[in-house]
This record gives sequence, C-alpha cells and structure tokens, in this order.
Amino acid sequence: MIGIIGSGTMGRGIAISAATGGYDVSLYDIDQQALDAAQQAIEKSVAKGVEKGKIPAEEQPKILARIRTTMSLDDLGAGELIVEAVPESMDLKKKIFGQLSGICSKDAILASNTSSLSITSISAVVDNPGRVVGMHFFNPANIMKLVEVIAGRFTSEETVANVCEIAEKMGKTPARVKDTPGFIVNRVARSFYTESLRILEEGVADEAAIDRVMQAHGFRMGPFTLMDLIGNDVNVEVTRSLYEAYHGEARYRPSHIQEALVDAGMLGKKSGRGFYNYES
Ligand code: NAD
Repeated sequence: MIGIIGSGTMGRGIAISAATGGYDVSLYDIDQQALDAAQQAIEKSVAKGVEKGKIPAEEQPKILARIRTTMSLDDLGAGELIVEAVPESMDLKKKIFGQLSGICSKDAILASNTSSLSITSISAVVDNPGRVVGMHFFNPANIMKLVEVIAGRFTSEETVANVCEIAEKMGKTPARVKDTPGFIVNRVARSFYTESLRILEEGVADEAAIDRVMQAHGFRMGPFTLMDLIGNDVNVEVTRSLYEAYHGEARYRPSHIQEALVDAGMLGKKSGRGFYNYES
C-alpha cells in the first residue's frame, strides 16, 4: 500500500498514478472538503483517461476501488511507501515526517514531493534518515512521466533504487537528482516564470501576449497559464525558497505582482481566478 499525505493538486494525481500501477492507496488529508473534492476529481480524471483511450475501460473500476480517502494518519501505518504532498513549508513537512517516524514501520520509505526544499533537512527529524527521499512528480501528476528522485545526504542507495522501481511501476521515468535547491527542473524553470514576471512588471507586454509568444515558440503552455495551473501560492513559495537558498540571487527574486495575487486569494485555476479568470 502507498500512503499519500495531502489530497490537493498533486496528491490526487499521485494517487491515480499509484493505483494505475496496481498499488492500494490511502489518501490522507486534514480537510474533509479537500478529500471530497479529490475523490470527485479522481473519478473525473480516470473517466477522461478512458474516454481518451489512455486507460482501458475495464481498468476504471479497479483503479478507483484501490483508492481510499482518510482523515486518520494512523491508516497510513502499513504503507511500504508514503508520499507527502502538503504545502511547501519546511516546518509543516518536518512536523509530518516526525509523526510518520512514529507511525510507520522502520522499513517504510518516506518520500516528499517537495519542489525545492532540502531532503537532508527534512530527514533530520526521522529515526532512520536512510529511508527519506525526494519523489518529485510534475503537474498533472497522473499524466506527466518525469519523476525526480532526490537523494539527501543520508538517503541509502537501496531507498533510491526502490523508489525508482516503484516509479517505473507507476509508468513514470525516474531521474536521479542530488539534493540542491530546486533540483533540476525547478531550477531551470524558475527563469521561465521570473523573467516573464519581470517583462510584465516593466509593462513590456501583458500576460496574454507573453503566453502567446511562448506558445508560438513551441511551449505547450505560456508561463502565466502554467503559474495559474500550478497555483500562484505554490509557485511563489518555490521561488521564495530558491531565492533564499541561493542567498538572494537576483534571477530568483519573487515578483510583487504574483505576491499581490496570492494575498488577494487569486491562486489560479483552483480558486477560480489568477492571472486569468476561470469563473465564467
Ligand atoms: P495544494 O495546496 O493543492 O494541496 C495541499 C493539500 O495538503 C491540501 O489538500 C491541504 O488540505 C493538505 N494539507 C495541509 N496541511 C496538511 C497536513 N498537516 N496534513 C495533511 N494534509 C494537509 O498543494 P499542491 O500543489 O498539491 O502541492 C503540494 C506539494 O507538492 C508542495 O510541496 C509543492 O511544492 C509540490 N509540488 C507542486 C506542484 C504543482 O504544480 N502544484 C508540482 C510539483 C510539486
């Protein structure tokens, strides 16, 4: 069984990937409304997969039957792998890993889906840090193939190998990465966001124009559409984390425009408004 902590944007996609790979899943959250929304989104997403021919119709009920939601962390105690996908806060992640250390078996692998935070730091609160690893899925987690597997300073080779194997069973392509701020993808992608925000701040072009130009040059999505999909709260938190970790390097400086959106509750698609309006 795979336990997943946090049933938001990422947790629900990871749940589908794990269930598609044949694993039973316990999806935990502190918020019943989030779990209800996740359940609905999972059903809708699997149905869409069948419609598009990506999931065989006979697999649909089996995948859905493998996913259980829960508000009790103890239900994750039997998990061979736990994937944490709560908001990007070191304090929160450490609190959860400390709890897991007491609940899970000594052999259970404890993974974080963090986009940028140090796996070594998270592992400091666990009895046996050799089993703590980063397992960084991309959004939408049930569709995107890449998973960065991050070894912290104390992560054992056995843990990394086991996680790569589990990722492959989920149909993913694991990439081994060292524990550095933002790993590979978020370090490279940061400039895609921050430079686009700089162009917007300077009034060179508006969001729609910048998105159109990037799409015309082969990007599947423009930066503002992508930030709205990711969630501006999540995206700005990752930028802040890299800015801090790289001691204020200018190219990682967060944008006041994006910070103002977050303060106004305009988180993107998930809240109905962000850079664009999704309400209508
Ligand atoms: P989200 O805000 O959509 O969901 C977070 C969920 O965690 C919510 O359902 C919330 O109720 C729950 N939660 C909060 N505190 C909790 C607790 N103490 N115990 C259990 N559940 C709790 O966030 P997200 O976008 O899914 O991001 C989660 C993690 O994944 C972050 O570390 C983020 O950096 C990373 N990530 C996000 C993306 C993305 O595109 N959104 C991509 C890759 C990685």
